[in-house]
Amino acid sequence: MKPKSLHDAALAVVRRLHEHGHTAYFAGGCVRDMLLGREPKDFDVATDAQPPRILELFRLTRRVGAQFGVVLVRQGRFWIEVATFRTDLSYSDGRHPDAVRFATPEEDAQRRDFTINGMFFDPLAERIIDFVGGQEDLTARRLRAIGEPRHRFTEDHLRVLRAVRFASAYGCTIDPPTWQAICEMAPMIRGVSAERIREELTKSLSGPGRLDAARLLAGAGLLEHLWEGATWSALHVETALATIEHLPAEAGFEAVLAILLLDRGVEEVHRICRMLTCSNRTREHVAWLVRHKDDLAEPAGLTLADLKLLMQSRHFGDLLVQVEALCRTTGAPMTTLDTILTRVAAIPPDEIRPTPFISGDDLKAMGLREGPAFSQILDRLYYAQLNNELRSRAAAMRLAEELVANELRA
Ligand code: ATP
Ligand code: MG
Repeated sequence: MKPKSLHDAALAVVRRLHEHGHTAYFAGGCVRDMLLGREPKDFDVATDAQPPRILELFRLTRRVGAQFGVVLVRQGRFWIEVATFRTDLSYSDGRHPDAVRFATPEEDAQRRDFTINGMFFDPLAERIIDFVGGQEDLTARRLRAIGEPRHRFTEDHLRVLRAVRFASAYGCTIDPPTWQAICEMAPMIRGVSAERIREELTKSLSGPGRLDAARLLAGAGLLEHLWEGATWSALHVETALATIEHLPAEAGFEAVLAILLLDRGVEEVHRICRMLTCSNRTREHVAWLVRHKDDLAEPAGLTLADLKLLMQSRHFGDLLVQVEALCRTTGAPMTTLDTILTRVAAIPPDEIRPTPFISGDDLKAMGLREGPAFSQILDRLYYAQLNNELRSRAAAMRLAEELVANELRA
């Protein structure tokens, strides 16, 4: 029987291990999510069976980290991570354990990061196995490091950022000793790779908990360590936090990052996004929002063509959202934005990005060669078309001939 869901696939894995005399539980994040009534993104299984035994018991497997006791097991169309109960031995790189030793379920719970992430669930007995007080903390919505917080953050610096993510995603307050350790150890995240920092930021700042995440990053002094040489104006951070609060629920990571970087030059924004190893798509999205942040501020100076050029961008919706959130934050009147929205609504969709009347081939036929003037003339013709100054190809050709003739004379 092929499992129909990830849950059923994980259950089948537990059942098979159990039938062969092994202890096996659901572990970590999926237990937390189940207790919260949320659909887990993945189900991890923890067991006393060791990798060779797991490979023996399941037909389709992949060794992902057999030295850490982790094997992927395929059930139908799902892959389940099956890990042997283990304890992490010394950490010397501030990120990964140097080695692991197979251990008891209790020791396996102790190596996990936060109590809410440290529980097991026995799906056959339908019983929670909680060695770390995770249930109580989850009920109280409290994020608490397992063990001595400073020690745990020193072992693995990424946990500092994971704390921000879990606290903000699950509406938890951070237990005071854990919080104190985060604040003290904030500079340590410099040792975390830019990719991992960006991944954590993306997750933290795109969900519904993003305002809390941004507040925690600011409050713990983490903003200063997100990339080499990061500096922040306290006043701007305050405004940015207030602005993030006014973003609609569906706003994405790019919209949030743009608000955080809104007081910087476009080039600096590109540089920061590169340091954070953002994708080109994300970098261009954020930089576009910063570049055009003031474009809607003076509707009188914004021509029809200017407006259409902005509307042509797939980020225009985010720009409207950004401007609205900023207005709400600063208490500026909404009348400017309303004026823009009225103008936007009056533009027929097929007039936003009409096919240009004049193409490069037309200019070449007139004897102009490609170069700066060539594209300037094309841009100028298209601008006039968007501005409704040119209503037909014939009219556009007349202007094109005139411009080309001037250029050829020069
Ligand atoms: P998510 O919903 O983001 O997947 P998760 O809790 O499942 O959250 P994972 O990164 O998938 O997080 O890790 C699974 C489990 O492994 C965690 O719940 C935690 O018990 C443990 N874990 C993961 N990363 C660490 C870490 N850096 N330090 C200690 N324990 C960790
Ligand atoms: Mg997970």
